[in-house]
Amino acid sequence: MEAGRLPQVGQLLDSPFLQEAVRKLSRPLVTETVRRVLGHYRKQRCFIKNEDDQAQLEADILSSCYKLIRTRQTRVINATGTVIHTNLGRSPISPELWEAVSELNTGYSNLEISLAKGKRGERKGLVNYLVGALTGADDALVVNNNASSVWLLLNELAAGKEVIISRGEQIQIGGGFRIPDIMRMAGANMVEVGTSNITTADDYLDAITENTAMVLMVHRSNFAIRGFTESPDIKEVARRLPKHVLLAVDQGSGLVTETFSKDEVPADRYLRQGADLVCFSGDKILGGPQAGIIAGHKELVKRLEKNPMMRAFRPSRIIYSLLEELLIRKLNGEECGRGIAERAQRNLETNRQWAERYLPEWGEHVSLFEDQLVIGGGTLPDEYYPSWSLELNSSKPANKVLDELREMDVPMIAVIRNDKVRINLATILPEDRDVVARQLTHYFMTTHTVEPSK
Ligand SMILES: *Cc1c(COP(=O)(O)O)cnc(C)c1O
Repeated sequence: MEAGRLPQVGQLLDSPFLQEAVRKLSRPLVTETVRRVLGHYRKQRCFIKNEDDQAQLEADILSSCYKLIRTRQTRVINATGTVIHTNLGRSPISPELWEAVSELNTGYSNLEISLAKGKRGERKGLVNYLVGALTGADDALVVNNNASSVWLLLNELAAGKEVIISRGEQIQIGGGFRIPDIMRMAGANMVEVGTSNITTADDYLDAITENTAMVLMVHRSNFAIRGFTESPDIKEVARRLPKHVLLAVDQGSGLVTETFSKDEVPADRYLRQGADLVCFSGDKILGGPQAGIIAGHKELVKRLEKNPMMRAFRPSRIIYSLLEELLIRKLNGEECGRGIAERAQRNLETNRQWAERYLPEWGEHVSLFEDQLVIGGGTLPDEYYPSWSLELNSSKPANKVLDELREMDVPMIAVIRNDKVRINLATILPEDRDVVARQLTHYFMTTHTVEPSK
């Protein structure tokens, strides 16, 4: 290269040092990055005069590429102790389930053709029967997420009419999903009854007019009200509602067969107690892909399916196939039919034993102690379960350690409690244990420094 010049973009792009970045980012994105770095050099009047300058330029380009690579979707280790973590992709799908639908999804499928008749058929496959077997509903439908479920049932069954809701259930779920806004957007008129802590059956019943279409009950997903509280007996509300008023419940989590939470009302119980429709998420506790499931009376489900917005809300076949597989495995009692909330709790003991094997090697860098886990993801906001955690004994500020853990090849997302970094074992997936052990051992040997003992 001539002295005092900058290399050509094309020449840099073909150099071996950038090939991994091209594979991970695509050629156009790397080209843009190279142009940007060269532009910066030109502006600063930095030119390449020797090998050191060239090495510096390459390092600068690589570090810009690396920043972009870090924004790619990537597997991370959840060491937070929050099992269904909204920022970490909510519920991981069990690997067996994913494997089981791979062949179906990489080929054509009978998504909308009846194999018996050779004619156009329904998209649902077995899903509605399986949801029926799970919840006792006589029909069900699936949409892209549970927020859509709520909108759809309000719009189809209550547009232009009144919907009665308790003041204690006017919730906002993450991402700006507020029940009053959804009501308005769906065209329903909200009628609030009760108070934040107390709503009775009479509150609902006294608010009914001839223009009332629905009573909507909403699970308080992400907060708990304690102390002097009262919620009505749903059986009583259902029994006393006049014929023209529907009872719908947004149950949220999709808990049905799971037994770890005694206080949580399972979706099927709402139906047994008289709800006409219940809706919930497909991933949270249920354990499938993100989706919204609405279960209940056949004639209501049929109406929902004919709503014009169903064209926008209907999920792809990937979602149907995963749900179908999950529900079959769940109904057969298989391990991979359990959601992550259940699987994580069953992993606790093996995760502790796994960590104990490494304790001699990790020495004074960590201590193992009894901790807690939460389910998270807008479910069971007030319940804590036992767990085990590693606490890092570090001479560095906890924030710095947290950053270093995120910098690892497979980034580890940990938490700080009492100024110390904690790695909660409850949320480490069995298939990630090896990589966690390898990364921690390497970290303790190279980067991490221990607080001198006092
Ligand atoms: C999580 C949740 C929703 C939203 O579900 P998404 O699948 O995230 O759209 C709605 N209602 C309740 C009660 C929830 O817990």
